[in-house]
Amino acid sequence: GGDREENFDVVVVGGGPSGSTTAALVARQGHRVLLLERDHHPRYQIGESLLPATVHGVCRILGVADELADAGFPRKRGGTFKWGASPEPWDFSFALSPRMAGPTSYAYQVERARFDEILLRNAAAEGAEVREGCAVRRVLTEGDRVVGVEYTDPGGADVVVRARHTIDASGNTSRLHREVGGPRQYSPHFRNIAVFGYFAGGRRLPSPNSGNIFSVAFDEGWIWYIPLRDDLTSVGVVLAADRAGDVQADPERGWLAAIDRCPIVAEMLAGTPRATEAPYDRIRVRKDYSYDKEAFWRPGMALVGDAACFIDPVFSSGVHLATYSGLLAARSLNSALAGDLPEDLAFGEFEARYRREFGLFHEFLVAFYDLHQERDSYFWNAKRITGAQASESEAFVELVGGIASGDSGVRVPAGGLAEAVAAAADGGEDANPLLRAKVVSASLQEGAQLQALAELGEDSGPQTPLFQGGLVPSADGLRWARPAG
Ligand code: FAD
Repeated sequence: GGDREENFDVVVVGGGPSGSTTAALVARQGHRVLLLERDHHPRYQIGESLLPATVHGVCRILGVADELADAGFPRKRGGTFKWGASPEPWDFSFALSPRMAGPTSYAYQVERARFDEILLRNAAAEGAEVREGCAVRRVLTEGDRVVGVEYTDPGGADVVVRARHTIDASGNTSRLHREVGGPRQYSPHFRNIAVFGYFAGGRRLPSPNSGNIFSVAFDEGWIWYIPLRDDLTSVGVVLAADRAGDVQADPERGWLAAIDRCPIVAEMLAGTPRATEAPYDRIRVRKDYSYDKEAFWRPGMALVGDAACFIDPVFSSGVHLATYSGLLAARSLNSALAGDLPEDLAFGEFEARYRREFGLFHEFLVAFYDLHQERDSYFWNAKRITGAQASESEAFVELVGGIASGDSGVRVPAGGLAEAVAAAADGGEDANPLLRAKVVSASLQEGAQLQALAELGEDSGPQTPLFQGGLVPSADGLRWARPAG
């Protein structure tokens, strides 16, 4: 028993992108939502490079797209890679071709303290009760059902919150996730360690790619180089997990030494001082970040964002999976709370869609790592893949080859992304090699549907179920519905 007891429809633990997305979209439907955040925003987090589906899909549905546009974050048209066989850097553009740039073919590079605060304040503006400085200690159960949480308020009092549904959005440091689907299952493939920090400037890639993330493979791993402001660059080094010992003994030395051994990055930073402003004046280390769970929900409780799963920093999937899972969970919560659907059906759809998106990115990232082979390099040899995934990997090598060589066949028909994906699936002559790879086309298709829904709402037309017997988003995108017919 706590010092105080309260009642809500939904309690969300954690005010990162996944929690703020869930809370905002459930509060919008008039339900009573409590969001508990351990820290006080703005607070630091890593994960600064976004994808278009987050910016133009979920963030538009959330109603923060204009605020983000006004925030002055650098526009990211895509990625520039020194990765794979080519000795020259090559670009991946969200528009798939610079000539076809559309109004939604970009994302942002964000200072997460600012981005996350925008999403959190938006959840409060939608009607969620947001309390900061409140650390959740444990979940409460009755039989096999989770019925709420207990937290400690800033004054040190223990508060019991009873809720019809509990959402764990407390990120990679979550302890509550153990209540769902057992312990985390760590990926044997992505066993890496990241050490990262900031410079007060640095050279930019030539226009129009100056806002791109620059990812550079080198002998021992790879480096991300993310422009956050003219006077701020995020630089992270990813190494094999067995280097953890020396990196953790002296992270700063390990970080600087790795940059030194990567001439292309060292040159871009030549003469640039380290950042001295908080929170960018520290070097940070993260490891054991690639994991998955046996289940993402149980009666009364679901996991979203990093509490559920994360793959790897390469290709910026983290905030996408966090906000996308937040949207899926909100649909399930809204449907169950309204009595439209039984809980198991609503959350079955949540889990199936979330797992599918995670699986697509997982496959994609395995293939992406496999692109870069450095003989005599422990890091890259360990990434070599075998058997089951090989055909996808070949397809991906082929498609990146097409991009890297500046193949003029890489273009999107006038009908836009959705049509291009459909054409590629039919294997037409015109098919863009990028879209022919199954993993790419499937994830682009979901992203394109999400953006159409965000932009057009009810006019985006009937949605098709992803799974046989499955559900579709309702016209407003905030619930699940049974497919027409
Ligand atoms: P978080 O953003 O971690 O938010 C969780 C919140 O819960 C925090 O605010 C925390 O204070 C709060 N909390 C924790 N415990 C409690 C508690 N007990 N009670 C109350 N509140 C609590 N993603 C990208 O998209 N692009 C990238 O470039 C990228 N780079 C990355 C690089 C590295 C090295 C790593 C490890 C990850 C990277 N990611 C990237 C992933 C990204 O950081 C995460 O996927 C994303 O932050 C997940 O959002 P979230 O809302 O689930 O969790």
